[in-house]
Amino acid sequence: GNEEAAAKAAAKIADTGAPTIFDKIIAKEIPSTIVYEDDKVLAFRDVNPQAPVHILVIPKMRDGLTQLGKAKPRHAEVLGHLLFAAKLVAEKEGIVDGFRVVINNGPEACQSVYHLHLHVLGGRQLKWPPG
Ligand code: C5P
Repeated sequence: GNEEAAAKAAAKIADTGAPTIFDKIIAKEIPSTIVYEDDKVLAFRDVNPQAPVHILVIPKMRDGLTQLGKAKPRHAEVLGHLLFAAKLVAEKEGIVDGFRVVINNGPEACQSVYHLHLHVLGGRQLKWPPG
């Protein structure tokens, strides 16, 4: 709820480059509900869903891509791949009438995990502007 959102905003977690929990999800050391996977990306259900459908799409190789703001020309291909995977996920989940793809970049955007990820949200009327 609102309190949780406020706490997250106040946390201002920084990009240290340390390994994240997503490495363990990729290695399947931590279970997740995978909805799509290929050689480059993994998509799984967010443990704290903000909509009836809330899926994270992540690159399997972080390769310095802790956040979008750190992207280098070499990342252009995987960035396109991630966005296309988000479309496949939305289709698979049946939310083609309306869905949103979000990337939180940095503390002021409430990024909390420093392994680039796309949020795919849908299954309800989404509001605009976001908080
Ligand atoms: O954009 P941000 O970095 O805040 O998003 C991280 C997301 O990862 C959150 O929505 C959080 O619920 C999710 N998460 C998860 N499984 C974990 C840790 C975080 O789905 N083990």
